[in-house]
Amino acid sequence: MNKIIYLDNAATTRVSEEVANTVTNAMTEDYFNPSALYLPSVNAATAIRKARETVKSAMHAPDGELYFTSGGTESNNTALFCTRKPKNSRIIVGMGEHDSVNVSANELKSQGYDVVFAPINPDGTVSVEEFKRLLSGDVSLVSVMHASNETGGINDIATLVKMTRQAAPKAVFHSDGVQAFGKIPVNLRALGVDLYSVSAHKLHGPKGIGALFIKKGVSVKPLLYGGGQEKGMRSGTENFPSVLGFEKAVESGIIKNFEGNYSKISQYREYLCAQLCEHIPDVKIITPMDKSVPNVLTVAFKDVRGEVLLHALEKHGILVGIGSACSSHHESRFKSLLGLDERYRDGIVRFSMSEENDESEINYVIKAIADEIFVLSKFRRV
Ligand code: PLP
Repeated sequence: MNKIIYLDNAATTRVSEEVANTVTNAMTEDYFNPSALYLPSVNAATAIRKARETVKSAMHAPDGELYFTSGGTESNNTALFCTRKPKNSRIIVGMGEHDSVNVSANELKSQGYDVVFAPINPDGTVSVEEFKRLLSGDVSLVSVMHASNETGGINDIATLVKMTRQAAPKAVFHSDGVQAFGKIPVNLRALGVDLYSVSAHKLHGPKGIGALFIKKGVSVKPLLYGGGQEKGMRSGTENFPSVLGFEKAVESGIIKNFEGNYSKISQYREYLCAQLCEHIPDVKIITPMDKSVPNVLTVAFKDVRGEVLLHALEKHGILVGIGSACSSHHESRFKSLLGLDERYRDGIVRFSMSEENDESEINYVIKAIADEIFVLSKFRRV
């Protein structure tokens, strides 16, 4: 089989043809600096304002502003470092957050803030009870992701926000929505968050473009200073082609085709899960199937190393993940948090699909996994 079966869409997605055409056109035809004064530039600035409204309305945002950034990492760094925080105040961060939050939180800790990490459940979501225990009147910032990049588990953000408002009315609540936006309906009014991060390349948009939504009245300083673009919040010549590509991806993936894509991806995942359980011995499903994004299925295989299986499947043209692509070159801190039995701990594999996958691929995938697991576990016994 020469075709690639791409099952690592939580790491990144293929840019769709219409997004690629939009970006190419903006680079070759409408390449003007949106801050210049002549008409083509004024038109570019107008197009950016329209894109801002498109992305904002897709997240049902309350009063506030959406600022384009270079992606989820920059949005998360802005949320953590640039919100107003009294010296030494408490910051609560989920234990399973993406490194762009986790490493930033550790840096804030080294600057003297009282950073505490909210423990997670075996399915990767933050434990509401444990979170409650960490709340106190001097919390200045909370950062809990909407959906886990490792398991797809969805956090009960609305409840965490309510609990935070009661205990610490002045605290700013940030949620990293990078794995949720485009995968589940996102309604920031209902969630009640102050800040929300998104990234285009997880929904068939270009890499290197994302956004941070900031609710009206929440004080956030810029991370980057300079020419004052993005109303002074994010200096640097606007990434006009990618902004338009992001808008196109949102129009296609959220505004026009959300329901069709959602049911297709969910069915595909259900089938994969059922087939794995039927044909592969001792597989543990880690993703909470009833409260997760529809595109992620994280499992643990017994007595097999996820990394070895990843490379074995690659020989069959199947590309899967073993958790966050960003931390795949060093030991993932995440797997030790899940409380897995030792024989499963190294065997975590994340399958993440998109609407471009097809149910017919699954039988091939299952057969390849079954064959490889048989060989690999035999090898371990030698
Ligand atoms: N947050 C989460 C949950 C992610 O999964 C990722 C990317 O893997 C990021 C943040 C970083 O986003 P970006 O790659 O746009 O910087």
